Amino acid sequence: MARINENFLKLKAGYLFPEIARRVKAFVEANPDKAGQLIRCGIGDVTEPLPEAARNAMKAAVDELGSRDSFRGYGPEQGYDFLRDSIVANNYAHLGIEADEIFVSDGSKCDSGNILDILGSGNKIAITDPVYPVYVDTNVMIGNTGEGDEDGRYEGLVYLPCNADNDFVPAIPDEPVDLIYLCYPNNPTGAAATREQLAAWVAYAKKHEALILFDAAYEAFIQDPEVPRSIYEIEGAHECALEFRSFSKNGGFTGVRCGWVVAPKTVFGTTESGEKIAIRDLWSRRTSTKFNGASYPVQRGAEALYSEEGKGQVKELITHYMENARLLREACEKVGLAVYGGENAPYVWVACPEGTDSWGMFDRMINEVQVVITPGSGFGAAGEGYFRISAFNSRENALEVCKRIQANLG
Ligand SMILES: *Cc1c(COP(=O)(O)O)cnc(C)c1O
Repeated sequence: MARINENFLKLKAGYLFPEIARRVKAFVEANPDKAGQLIRCGIGDVTEPLPEAARNAMKAAVDELGSRDSFRGYGPEQGYDFLRDSIVANNYAHLGIEADEIFVSDGSKCDSGNILDILGSGNKIAITDPVYPVYVDTNVMIGNTGEGDEDGRYEGLVYLPCNADNDFVPAIPDEPVDLIYLCYPNNPTGAAATREQLAAWVAYAKKHEALILFDAAYEAFIQDPEVPRSIYEIEGAHECALEFRSFSKNGGFTGVRCGWVVAPKTVFGTTESGEKIAIRDLWSRRTSTKFNGASYPVQRGAEALYSEEGKGQVKELITHYMENARLLREACEKVGLAVYGGENAPYVWVACPEGTDSWGMFDRMINEVQVVITPGSGFGAAGEGYFRISAFNSRENALEVCKRIQANLG
């Protein structure tokens, strides 16, 4: 009989979203008259249509594949030069990152999980709490943790609590770690990290020869010009950080699928015997063996987001979602709730009223205002006492949610 990877059995069976679905279903069954009023502000998926520039570029690319002269088969595993070059020109030209340090992929979720392929076992791994669950679960799957407890905390991981006291950016640990996952602007808290905060993390990583895995999926939502848009704006990051980026949230590519990893040539890991090895070379090797590149039409669509027309359309999307975030923040503030995030990220992170926990708030929101939110505790023990409202919605829905919050939660 085929043996399985038993690490998978340690996983806390994707508790959060199934439990939300279960409670929504129970509500709908108990209140069939109210089912039609439900508004979902739970899932982190975009709602607005794909920018026209991307659609046109993808259609043209499909037509190119339809004639022998312009047909293309397998592309370069690391991505076409046209896209790697425009990624550099539009994001990193001033930061000293080169096109051969960009690895185009089918999205960041895959990249942030796959990166563990090239990292060894025995690393001490730090993650924030609350956290994007992918970082935790991929470490569980590969055997980097022990068993999980009832709160979903796994033995062997270093949890860095993020709360209102530290502005949702974790304090530097007082012990050395080897690997640090940071996501800013943050999902789920909507917090942005300042230059000083990121500089402290880079200094720590350099001191301990640690590797920072920096997830910047929400870069496009940054409004404050002082907030760094890339970890490479921080001096020294070129020696200790990889950056994960995605077209999912800025370009509405959650269903189209395209992202990239930045792996500077100057980031090294070590063998057991102490030999330094360039992370970039390992990632390149892994990519050419296990991946055959993102689809050609998709890469053309992504490239088109950097055209003048495309940039304008992306900006409209960001403005749309950020206006939703502003409205939602305001509505929660008006009823006296403590509100965080939502200023440089499409997530509003709200403290539950005194005496109500995250799931209690989930139940109140669905029962009293028919709005589905995400309980903060689902993202980690330190998320208890908070809930997340996603700004990914139509304006009509966002306004309706605001109206109901103000009418019923005050
Ligand atoms: C949405 C999101 C991503 C992007 O994932 P894709 O696989 O590129 O769609 C990455 N990180 C975080 C934290 C996210 O919320």
